[in-house]
Amino acid sequence: MFERGKTRPAVRLGGIIALFSGFHLGARVYYGPVQRTVFERIIAREIPSEIIYEDDRVAAFRDVHPQAPTHILIVPKKPVARMAEAGPEDESLLGHLLLKAAQVAAQAGLSNGYRLVINNGQDGGESVPHLHCHILGGRPMSWPPG
Ligand code: AMP
Repeated sequence: MFERGKTRPAVRLGGIIALFSGFHLGARVYYGPVQRTVFERIIAREIPSEIIYEDDRVAAFRDVHPQAPTHILIVPKKPVARMAEAGPEDESLLGHLLLKAAQVAAQAGLSNGYRLVINNGQDGGESVPHLHCHILGGRPMSWPPG
């Protein structure tokens, strides 16, 4: 038995899991930082970023580790993890994302061309599980990609 006033290990473990994975508040579920990607936090203005385009469905901001003179990310505000998780209900959103990528590229002055890249999963080189399209330009791109 456990003494009065001391926290049982299982209760303490439960508290730690709740802290890092989310917990129920009545009918609402609060998800802590572990579930929210860096891009959701940029969209929510919780992380500073240079947002260069935004509407009700997408946001575009500069990549923090640019791989080209111009390196912009455009992301859906809906937190779709990656292309493989997108469904038929996302068809219009994905079309909007690509059309806005072209608009953002034009506004960034990439009149000589650019590359759009979507990395999917481990072999695709994805590091942030929130669908995003890289807009890369300002230098000639090689092929095949690394
Ligand atoms: P990927 O490897 O395709 O998942 O791309 C993720 C990209 O997000 C990388 O190019 C990172 O440099 C970029 N990135 C990560 N954190 C931030 C951030 N806080 N602001 C802007 N870009 C970021």
